[in-house]
Amino acid sequence: MTGLVVAMDGPSGSGKSSASRGVARALGLRYLDTGAMYRAITWWMLERGVDLADPEAIAARALDPVLSMGTDPDAPSVAVDGADAAVAIRTSEVTAAVSAVSAVPEVRRRLVAEQREIIGLGGIVVEGRDIGTVVTPGAPVKVYLTASADARALRRTAELTGTTVEAQRAAMARRDTLDSTRKTDPLAMAADAVELDTTALNLEEVIAEVLRVIKEKA
Ligand code: C5P
Repeated sequence: MTGLVVAMDGPSGSGKSSASRGVARALGLRYLDTGAMYRAITWWMLERGVDLADPEAIAARALDPVLSMGTDPDAPSVAVDGADAAVAIRTSEVTAAVSAVSAVPEVRRRLVAEQREIIGLGGIVVEGRDIGTVVTPGAPVKVYLTASADARALRRTAELTGTTVEAQRAAMARRDTLDSTRKTDPLAMAADAVELDTTALNLEEVIAEVLRVIKEKA
């Protein structure tokens, strides 16, 4: 398992984060949340008043924030310019703005390079939108998680306060459309990925299914 790379892609609310952490924990692997990296850059830009409607303004600052990612599945961490940003990157403001930032090629080029560096010689579960297609196309195990729009909205609503299923369904649909229609590295399933519909599964069942795929492929 030491050199194994498991690529976990899919839209928001498909259960990627919990499943990826659970799989990493079960196999003693590291865990990388690439969405947290796009969120961290977005948070930094919001803090500095960068105009997120202007891709050139985003591109001009794309290299400025310094990120540091912790890959322990029991305590994943994200720091920006040396300060812990784990809570700050989960606000609804960041969630609403992140797709505009992640669509900018300069941001993606930078983060894909950093992700490859962290993956290094492997031994890691990596979750995101373009892991199996762009970041590590040679990964021996690729899983693409999906779930019905209702199941995804219900899960997200249960994690948050002050929101409704309808509001979450609309926000997720908007983000999925932006993420899957952008020009650079859109959300897509790799041709050699195993698709796993998690609509009717609980977390333990999803983890067991991914472990079964790993056993079969790796
Ligand atoms: O996974 P999470 O919902 O935290 O990701 C936040 C956003 O980061 C996504 O909506 C997407 O715009 C971007 N993202 C990406 N590529 C990845 C991971 C996340 O573009 N590999």
